[in-house]
Amino acid sequence: MHCHYCDREAAFAAESDGVRVGLCEDHFRERLDELADSDALEQLREQVDVDRAE
Ligand SMILES: [Zn+2]
Repeated sequence: MHCHYCDREAAFAAESDGVRVGLCEDHFRERLDELADSDALEQLREQVDVDRAE
């Protein structure tokens, strides 16, 4: 899976509105900042934990 925002290999997978997208380290951190005040952050963290455990 590649990053949704650039061509790098995705380090994380996030789910937003039922759509699963890959994110590289840089873009993952960018999205975390944007999502910091929303409920989506909890969902994102849970998804990351699952993916990194594989
Ligand atoms: Zn990226």
